[in-house]
Formats: sequence, structure tokens, C-alpha cells
Amino acid sequence: PEATDKEFFEAIFSNYQLLAESSDKTLKTSLKFDGSLSLDQSLVKQLLTILFDNAMKYTGEDGEIQVDVQKNGSTLILSVADNGEGISAGDKKKIFDRFYRVDKARTRQKGGLGLGLSLAQQIAEAHNGRIAVEDNPPRGTKFVVRLRTSPSLKSAKVSKK
Ligand code: ATP
Repeated sequence: PEATDKEFFEAIFSNYQLLAESSDKTLKTSLKFDGSLSLDQSLVKQLLTILFDNAMKYTGEDGEIQVDVQKNGSTLILSVADNGEGISAGDKKKIFDRFYRVDKARTRQKGGLGLGLSLAQQIAEAHNGRIAVEDNPPRGTKFVVRLRTSPSLKSAKVSKK
């Protein structure tokens, strides 16, 4: 049988923990979650993993990453914060565009096409949700995703724009 949503997030967190440790980064997680939601687990995992992978990519060896998952009524809030290089106000408006990368010369060595966040945004929108980016003082970036959960989500599809 499919894992409960709580078990599903716990399994993701322990996987992230291994990845963080193997790169000498510190990961903190919190899960406030009761009962079950109608989640499309594979899409939610994909979304969270895009944000986690970016936090890994854009922090150094002193990287500290905080991943929180919280169910608030029928709203699921996911957040991923890091103490990395941060994103300027101007770039915050563009990072969700397909193929947009902040500093091509600097980020080229880190790989990637600039597709991750546009896909994350499409997944959020397919769940009646939204994704926002803010600073994470004193240093770094925080992404917050709010998803509205309902039984119809199981059939939500992400369109290829
Ligand atoms: P990929 O297609 O593999 O995801 P990518 O990481 O370049 O490549 P996006 O995930 O769409 O693409 O991110 C777009 C840009 O936003 C990145 O190139 C990077 O400059 C910036 N960015 C994303 N997440 C962070 C973060 N946590 N800290 C700093 N900059 C970030």
C-alpha cells in the first residue's frame, strides 16, 4: 500500500539527510502533519526536491538548509531555506522563467538548464498553489510553497507550456 503522507515526507527527509551529510552540509527538518491529504506524492516530491537540490547547489560547505513541511487545514506549506549566496531583487522576478539562470558564468560549473524552478512553479499551480521566494536573513534564500489539497488533486496534470 502507498505510504501515508507523513511516512512519505519522513522518507524524503531521511534521503535528503544522507545527501546533505555526504556534502558536509547541515540539514534541519520539521514535519507538522496530522492525518492524510490527497496529495499527488510524486509531484510533491519532485517539487520539494527541485528546491532542496538548489539549496544544495547554491550553498557552500558551510551550507545550512532548513526544510519544513506543515499542514494547515487543507493547505500544505513547504519551505526550503538556505544560507547560500542569495538572489537579488531583480533576479527574484526572473528565476521562475524557463532557462533563466542568474549568473551564467558562475553557475555554469554547477550544471543545470534553468528549468527546475519553472517546473516547480507549474507543479504548484497544478495544485492550486503558489510558490514564493524571499530572503533568508542574515544570508541566503527561502522558498515557500502553498498547496491547496483536495480529492481532485490525484488527477492534476502538469502541462508542458
Ligand atoms: P536546473 O535546470 O538544473 O534546475 P538551475 O538550478 O540553474 O538548473 P533553476 O532551478 O530554475 O535552474 O534556478 C534558476 C536560477 O535561480 C539558478 O540558476 C540560480 O541562479 C538561482 N537559484 C535557484 N535556487 C537558488 C538558491 N537556493 N540560492 C541561490 N540562487 C538560486
